[in-house]
This record gives sequence, structure tokens and C-alpha cells, in this order.
Amino acid sequence: MRYHTGLFIPGPTNVPDQVRRAMNLPQEDMRSPDFPKLTLPLFADLKKVFKTETGQPFIYPSSGTGGWEAVLTNTLNPGDKVLISTFGQFSLLWADMCQRLGFETVVVDCEWGEGVPVETFHDILAKDKGHTIRAVLATQNETATGVTSDIAGLRKAMDAAGHPALLYVDGVSSVGSIDFRMDEWGVDGIVSGSQKGFMLPTGLAIICVSQKALEAHKSSKFPRCFFSFEDMMRTNKDGYFPYTPATTLLRGLRASLDLMFEEGLENVFARHNHIATGVRKAIEAWGYELCAKEPKWHSDTVSAIKVPANIDAVKVIRHAFDRYGVSFGSGLNKLSGKVFRIGHLGATSELLLLGAVAAAEMSLVDCGADIELGSGVAACQTWYGGRRNIEAAKAA
Ligand SMILES: *Cc1c(COP(=O)(O)O)cnc(C)c1O
Repeated sequence: MRYHTGLFIPGPTNVPDQVRRAMNLPQEDMRSPDFPKLTLPLFADLKKVFKTETGQPFIYPSSGTGGWEAVLTNTLNPGDKVLISTFGQFSLLWADMCQRLGFETVVVDCEWGEGVPVETFHDILAKDKGHTIRAVLATQNETATGVTSDIAGLRKAMDAAGHPALLYVDGVSSVGSIDFRMDEWGVDGIVSGSQKGFMLPTGLAIICVSQKALEAHKSSKFPRCFFSFEDMMRTNKDGYFPYTPATTLLRGLRASLDLMFEEGLENVFARHNHIATGVRKAIEAWGYELCAKEPKWHSDTVSAIKVPANIDAVKVIRHAFDRYGVSFGSGLNKLSGKVFRIGHLGATSELLLLGAVAAAEMSLVDCGADIELGSGVAACQTWYGGRRNIEAAKAA
């Protein structure tokens, strides 16, 4: 019997007690007169999370993948040209969806460990004088490689190229954990899901689109039904849904938004950065490298750690689970066996991540890695507390 298992995958993430309790309630009538008292404030508060005044939020009973599909099929036409870069499993899957939905998909293949190639995108867009590219797609946080891209920079590049394409962002593993600014960055569609930064079980696709995307929606002939914006908007405006919403998850969403606002969004981002930095200190102490090729791409929600050639990351992950009751993320696709991932997003703490680092260290050593037990933990401790605070006090 294990009393506690460690969940350190980059989603689903830990669900805080307050959120769990908020979902422990009898089922309710989603057509009752007081249901909008729950739902209308949810829509308003999601706009705060996305940092938008004019965006239109949607909540689907789905996962993030459904959110991708909702944004694309509601605003584009079959055969439309879209621009996307692939640098990890999630950007790859989004590009694959574009192809399968019948878009003319311009794919810029990047090395896994790099981010959105902002300059290349600029050049492609600048050359597209006829503005045939309808949408630019960017994964803000590539969960497979632990790479965060510069969405503000991408917006600047699009503006510099004078290109009117829609900008769609996958924020599934960044929204609510890493800063995202829909209005300021001119994002036309942002996709998220419940089981990462929102600290909920899987089951909601949480998205938001701009007025420009809603304008494009009017001329979009894509066949759609379950994900139809118009059906949603017709009912959402009064606080209802065109079909049964995931009422329990909506109650949980209320609780998770309350927690996020109580802490303050900026503090949530700072906590993620602080916790992630401690993990990066540990990795550095082991002498290991991140999959993310440059510090500017370091993700504050997930670290993908490259293991030496003589170590099989699949075995390390398996051993961590069997021996220490800890789940780490695996290397996806071509990274299988080469990396393991530590998720550090959502309801995390210094103490939890110290445990994760300790378990990773023991598992690595058990699997033959030549690192010193305690080295990563000490580096992490030094960042989180102890000497770092002493030094900060001395410097002050
Ligand atoms: C998890 C994730 C997805 C997929 O979301 P699902 O909820 O599994 O459908 C998409 N993009 C990114 C960046 C993710 O981390």
C-alpha cells in the first residue's frame, strides 16, 4: 500500500484539495435558473486568465486536442493555407491535425529543443505578398521538449512583415503557469485544457478567440457540429450550453480560478519560475543538459532532461515508478529513451519538487548513472532556501 505517489508528469497535474472538495457534490441541473450564476462569472474570469477584454471564451467537454480542432474548424475553410513549425510531439500533432483536416499546411521543421522560428516565419510571411497564409500556429510551450517560445516576438515579426494572418497559440501547458497576454500579443485563438495549469482533472478544452477570429468564423464553411461556435455562443450568452456541460468540472474550475486569483496570476508565474529554476539547478549539478537548446527557451512548466548515452531513460522512468512510486514524463517519439521529463506546473511546491529531484537522482543512480547522490537535491535546496536566502540577505 502506497499512501502517496508522486505525479510529476506535465499533465494531468496535482488537483488541490480545495478543488477536489469543490467537485464533491451531487449532480446538478444544467438547465436550472441558477446555473448561470456559476457559468457567467466563469466566462468573465477566464478572460482575466487569458488577459483579454474583447476575446470570446469557450468551454468544451473535451481535452486540449478538441480545443485545437474547435479553433481551426470554426474559423478557416478547407484548403486554407496555414503556417506551423514542428519542434516536438505536440507541435507535430497539431500540424498533423491541420493536414488531416485538409488545410494546405506549410510546415517548418525545427530541431527538437528549439522554439518557434520567429525570423523564418517573418521571412515566409514577408514573401507571401498575396496573403495566402490564413493562419499562423504556434505552440507556446512544447511539453515534449520543455521549450517555451516567444509569442510576443512572433506577433512583432508578423506585424513587421505586415501580414494579416490569424495567430493561433497552443497554450495547453502554459496558460495559468507562464505569462500569456491575448490582447497585448494580438493572439486570435488560444487553446488550453483543464488538466495542466488549471489544476483540474482532464475533461475541459478551454479556449478563447478574438473578434477577428469571430469575423473569420462568419465566412468559414468548415463542417462542424459538436464544436460549433454559433451553437455555443447562442446558449452561453445566458449561461447555458447546447449540450450537457461537465458540471462537476465547472465547479472545480470555479475553485481553481479562485485559488489562482487569490495567489495572484503574476505570483503564480513567479512561483513556477522559482520552482523550475531549482529543478534546473539540480540538472546542472548532475552535469546533465536540458533538451531545450538555449536558456531563452527554458520552460517553467516542464524540464526535459537528456540522459547520457549509456543510460536508458525508459528504464529510469520505469524504475522511478516501481521503486519510488513516482511518475515522470517519458521521452516522446524520437526522444524515447533519451530524455525523461519532470513536470513542475500547477499545484506544486518547493517540497514536492525536492522529492521529485531526490527520486530522479536515486533512480538515475540505481540505473547506473554516474552522478553523486544528493548533488541535485543540494543544488535545488540551495536555490529554494538556505544559503540562497542568506546570500540574498548579505547582498541587501
Ligand atoms: C497536453 C497538451 C496537448 C494535448 O492536450 P490533451 O488534453 O491531451 O488533448 C496539446 N498541446 C500541448 C502543448 C500539451 O501540453
